[in-house]
Amino acid sequence: MKRAPARRLNVARESPTARKTRARAIARALARAYPDAWCALHYRTPWELLVATILSAQCTDAMVNQVTPALFAEFPSPAALAAAPAARVEELIKRTGFFRQKTKSIQATARVIAERHGGEVPDTMEALTELPGIGRKTANVVLGTAFGQPAIFVDTHVRRLANRLGLTVEDDPDKIERDLQVLLPPKEWTAFAHRLIHHGRRVCVARKPRCGACPLLRWCPQIGVKVSA
Ligand code: SF4
Repeated sequence: MKRAPARRLNVARESPTARKTRARAIARALARAYPDAWCALHYRTPWELLVATILSAQCTDAMVNQVTPALFAEFPSPAALAAAPAARVEELIKRTGFFRQKTKSIQATARVIAERHGGEVPDTMEALTELPGIGRKTANVVLGTAFGQPAIFVDTHVRRLANRLGLTVEDDPDKIERDLQVLLPPKEWTAFAHRLIHHGRRVCVARKPRCGACPLLRWCPQIGVKVSA
């Protein structure tokens, strides 16, 4: 028997209210599927999360988690890291890739935090993005994850999934962040972003999304395209 073609959501004609309702259904489905999904980077303090997030650029979280214990054991504070010999820091973080640039970044950030913020990571977007090399994404990771403030961080997974799910048509991370903020209550932002990343790593992967096993299928405009492919 021939299967009826799957109904495809027309997100171009979706009203703002309908999109909000759909986004909240997606958030609930993600919460059911991944109730404990949270940051995969290991950290004990906002400072450790900030460094780990910088090191995670172009690197897996698992690899970052392998190098940070030794880094933080040897240089436990921003002041200690700022004063460390660059060659030693490079050696410790080498396996995360781009280690020379990353060493410059974490030491420059450490210096500013030690000198201007009394060794404490600031907890505002404005102050965080004034740190050398810290953009909105990293600042949002720290604000949402370590400080418990409402924050949506748009990494490669969030950008891909927000587009596939028809929650945005934007490519620019700042615009995607704003689009998602409108759709969900602030108290859900951080968990939603972590769960999207989790889902993007396991099911809605970049090349061949596993739509047949996806708990978001009924709210996704990709229905009927990827499923039947
Ligand atoms: S249905 Fe497919 S494209 Fe849509 S979110 Fe799920 S895996 Fe991704």
